[in-house]
Amino acid sequence: MFIFEPVNDNLSVFLAKSEVKAHDLEHKRKLAFNIRKYAETVVKGKQQFNDLDLARRKAKNVKWKVMENLDKYLEQFEKNFTARGGKVIWAETAEDALEAVLQICKEKNTRQVVKAKSMVTEEIHLNAFLAKHGIDSVETDLGEYIQQLDGEAPYHIVTPAMHKSKEDVAKLFHEKLGVAPNLTPTELTQIARRNLREKYTTSEVGITGGNFLLADVGAVCVSENEGNGRLSTSFPKTQIAIVGIEKMLPSINDLPLFWPLLATYGTGQNVTVYNTIFTGGRQQGENDGPEEMYVVLLDNGRTNLLRKEVRESMYCIRCGSCLNACPVYKNIGGHAYGATYSGPIGSVITPHLKGMSEFKHLSYASSLCGNCTEVCPLKINIHEMLLENRHIAVEEGLNTFTENTTWKVWRQAMLSRTLINAAPAGIKAKVVNKLFKKSWVDSRSEIKFAPKTFNQLWKERSSGK
Ligand code: SF4
Repeated sequence: MFIFEPVNDNLSVFLAKSEVKAHDLEHKRKLAFNIRKYAETVVKGKQQFNDLDLARRKAKNVKWKVMENLDKYLEQFEKNFTARGGKVIWAETAEDALEAVLQICKEKNTRQVVKAKSMVTEEIHLNAFLAKHGIDSVETDLGEYIQQLDGEAPYHIVTPAMHKSKEDVAKLFHEKLGVAPNLTPTELTQIARRNLREKYTTSEVGITGGNFLLADVGAVCVSENEGNGRLSTSFPKTQIAIVGIEKMLPSINDLPLFWPLLATYGTGQNVTVYNTIFTGGRQQGENDGPEEMYVVLLDNGRTNLLRKEVRESMYCIRCGSCLNACPVYKNIGGHAYGATYSGPIGSVITPHLKGMSEFKHLSYASSLCGNCTEVCPLKINIHEMLLENRHIAVEEGLNTFTENTTWKVWRQAMLSRTLINAAPAGIKAKVVNKLFKKSWVDSRSEIKFAPKTFNQLWKERSSGK
């Protein structure tokens, strides 16, 4: 990564953390182990599709239609969801969403909420906000529970504790919960389960995210493998689903396409174990489910992603596949990005969600190998959008004088054969190695130039020397 820009806080954190992780062999071993297991199962999951390419193209078309008509679908969703008594809250910013959740918690007079896995709640830092107001937000997904115990944010959008081995988790439980050290994964899961059961039954409010919103029936779909999402929404009297507006699908009839795609690309399953369609609070004559349900529709910068250069990033179903395929993610891990959404898709969307000048460096955290685009179930042109981001940053004048000058000189030199040939190899090596000392030489090796130029070699060859 060539650094031309002044080092802001986010960039320096990114560089420092990347440096540490890239040299941490144990970290690489754990990630490689978990990603290898994932890669093996995905191959099997893909076999369920008769024509996988067609399925991916169809899904992309559906999402294209949604993003071209997002305003219409959002209104349709609201109309249908509220028709059954559900309440919709439009949150333009993270603060709007947080305030809305707090108001509901205050009305219900609750000091504790249970929460199913949700990246959107990570994005708005819901747990920390509620804690500040004296409300305990308990993570119920096992991976999130582990991360919460450790005081860490999720490492991956699908597998929050991907960087931890079973031994790491046993040690953590021993230190934080005082249980015996070296417990097996089954024993650890039973402990988490025992601790969480009581939380479900004593919480007034249950919070989830949403994998999909359905415009035609006005529903929120939640996919999960542990049943904690259902428990978090069955016992508490009030359910709040906080969902990004990009999660919209036109119809319930799109689920037979999107559920298997999400499951296969996310975890290699044919379909996720628990898929629930929430259509609102308990209706007359129904015996279970929450009495009230709210959906918080979150923008928080998403409408910035509707600009044509990066609009495809709104098609993302957060399967995590591009993270697992990315050589950069595999080397530096999830926390180095300094953002909720890491990996290739995180590098595309974060500068638009959180500020181009603060996060434009993420667009360079890529080898541009295109593997992310290759593995994306929605065929999102991720690596091209990383280039678009770089272009947008230049258009917005966020590049520095040094960067502009460097590229000008580089361009001049590259366009002039005479100029390239003029300097001897030793001088060229000196200049280039000095210029790229920090960004290349220090972490790799010196760049060497051939003693003879291409022109010289060509002339010699032509004259038969
Ligand atoms: S960009 Fe594609 S591969 Fe990456 S998380 Fe989104 S849907 Fe999955």
